[in-house]
Amino acid sequence: MDDIDEAQELQRRETESIIRDATAPLKKTGCKDCDDCGSEIEVERRMAMPSARRCIECQRRREQKVP
Ligand SMILES: [Zn+2]
Repeated sequence: MDDIDEAQELQRRETESIIRDATAPLKKTGCKDCDDCGSEIEVERRMAMPSARRCIECQRRREQKVP
């Protein structure tokens, strides 16, 4: 059972370092904070769309044109 825990911990750390590596270069191009609400844009979203300037919530709101 300890082996499984260790494997999970290792995988969690690997994922964290991958995300850290992936976000570093994006600081140059991507927009870290949402233009509308100022909260941090999700890493996955910035990786998928480096030109995104809004968080998924605000983008969705704009696309739906909800006031
Ligand atoms: Zn936002």
